Amino acid sequence: MAINTYDAIVIGGGHNGLTAGAYFARHGAKTVVLEARHKTGGAADTSAPFADHPEINVTTYSYVMSLMPPTIINELQLKRHGYDVTPFGPYFQAFPDGRAIMVYADEAERSRDSIAQFSKKDADALPEWEAWLKGVADILGPLLLQSPPRAGSLAIGDLLETARTAWKVRKLGVRGVGDVTRLFTMSITDLLDDWFESDAIKGMLAVNGIIGTWAGPDEPGTAYVMLHHSIGDVGDGHLGSWGYQQGGMGAVSDSIRRSAEAFGAEIRTNARVKSMLTSGGRFHGVVLEDGTELRAPIGVTCVHPKIGFLDMIPPTDLPADFVTDIQRWKTRSGVVKINVAMSELPDFTAMPGKELQEHHTGSVELCFSPEYAERAFQDSHMDRKASVAPFVDGVIPTTMDKKLAPEGTHVFSMFSQWVPDDWVNDPHREELDAYAKRIFDLYDELAPNFKDAIIDYQVIGPYDMEQELGLIGGNIFHGELSVDQLFHMRPAPGYADFRTPIKGLYHGSSATHAGGGVNGIPGWKAYRAAVKDRALKKRS
Ligand SMILES: Cc1cc2nc3c(=O)[nH]c(=O)nc-3n(C[C@H](O)[C@H](O)[C@H](O)COP(=O)(O)OP(=O)(O)OC[C@H]3O[C@@H](n4cnc5c(N)ncnc54)[C@H](O)[C@@H]3O)c2cc1C
Repeated sequence: MAINTYDAIVIGGGHNGLTAGAYFARHGAKTVVLEARHKTGGAADTSAPFADHPEINVTTYSYVMSLMPPTIINELQLKRHGYDVTPFGPYFQAFPDGRAIMVYADEAERSRDSIAQFSKKDADALPEWEAWLKGVADILGPLLLQSPPRAGSLAIGDLLETARTAWKVRKLGVRGVGDVTRLFTMSITDLLDDWFESDAIKGMLAVNGIIGTWAGPDEPGTAYVMLHHSIGDVGDGHLGSWGYQQGGMGAVSDSIRRSAEAFGAEIRTNARVKSMLTSGGRFHGVVLEDGTELRAPIGVTCVHPKIGFLDMIPPTDLPADFVTDIQRWKTRSGVVKINVAMSELPDFTAMPGKELQEHHTGSVELCFSPEYAERAFQDSHMDRKASVAPFVDGVIPTTMDKKLAPEGTHVFSMFSQWVPDDWVNDPHREELDAYAKRIFDLYDELAPNFKDAIIDYQVIGPYDMEQELGLIGGNIFHGELSVDQLFHMRPAPGYADFRTPIKGLYHGSSATHAGGGVNGIPGWKAYRAAVKDRALKKRS
């Protein structure tokens, strides 16, 4: 076989591209993964951004693991290659009046006591809420592993697939279908108002409904985003709660890369794909930026769909309505990631002490109420400025991950929103720095040693995410998780089954069903679609 001829070419070396590459290589296919950057992993990355402190590593973009199915972990032998995730908790929110709320994954009594400080009624409601959510999530979770049917198609095979999907959710019953309808159409604010009265608990629970969205908690559809982040079982083994990977999220990618290489995949970095070779509606290969041609009968695009379909394939080679759908694909977000190196842990007035305590080990949130978060969104959406008081989903992984930084030093990883969506067009360095400093002030009000403990910090805005990773619009999921972009619509009607209009070209990026998040499902499902199509001949 000629040197640049393969059985399968994977475009993009994020964790999904690596997963697809590992599966193709495991199948016996001569496989190459092509990554534009100097390193693989994409948004699942660990880096050392502080020039004066090269010993401090941060989990650059994504920060916690949850939805990686046990099948992928086992089949790719990821634990042997360094996959090592420890569940963390609790959820913690301190308030300026000196109170704090803590919600634990499996300590109902302690959660109850904590919430009762704010509302006895809410303390009583929490177990029922959790049971309700778990019931819906456990039925919908397995759908994450299913290829969405071609809804509307009258072909026999498509009708059978649609019927199979309906059969899978039959356990929902009439009430359950009503619950799902609510989750897909309601705002997280309205949903939480149905269950709780206290802003404290509602603010904490609202965070999962707005992670990565260009929408405040009052926006219809945000209830689903909360569900997406609450799924604990994707149907092939129960998953734990959210967890920290030892060595940061880059270590997840590294474990998949090692697996791919152990199965024989070739990984090329600094290999930016410029275009795909297609003719007669078939995939034939790719051309790199330096002009190198690589050929294969199978391709898997694991880059943002606007890059993969609009930049790499001439529009004349694609159906016009597909091109229009991808052009209209919504991919905004206004996310800012801030990685802070600290000389000591925050000493919260509500939970005094700089020594490691359990509230340091989980989510250290900054979201006092749904209204607080909605205001933050409206600052950026309507007033076109960075949020005056942003919300933060914060974690301090160094409380449980000893590989990131030297003993005694900590990394506070802050996922925050929002800045205006058009900040993706310019770096906005000074304004982003001011934005970060406002967040530091807010944490300092809750933990007065906060600002003094800062050693250094890194601020990553939408512009950086688009330029560095190809996250168009700065959207962390390769496309918004809005209801119009889910399931059979992700990324376009008729093409949600990990196939594309080009024969031999599959789609395994986070813009497919089950994306986003660091779960590997899109890369795996793209491989499975190729196997199902008998596109891949098994080598001996
Ligand atoms: C700030 C942030 C926080 C997040 N937090 C979490 C979290 O805590 N937990 C979670 O589960 N998820 C989180 N996510 C989402 C999650 O990280 C992503 O959904 C996931 O990592 C995307 O994986 P991917 O492989 O599909 O794509 P990517 O990771 O985006 O990888 C795509 C790769 O393609 C490469 N590429 C682009 N163009 C080309 C080209 N022309 N040729 C070759 N290669 C190219 C890119 O360099 C990149 O490496 C977060 C994301 C961000 C940005």
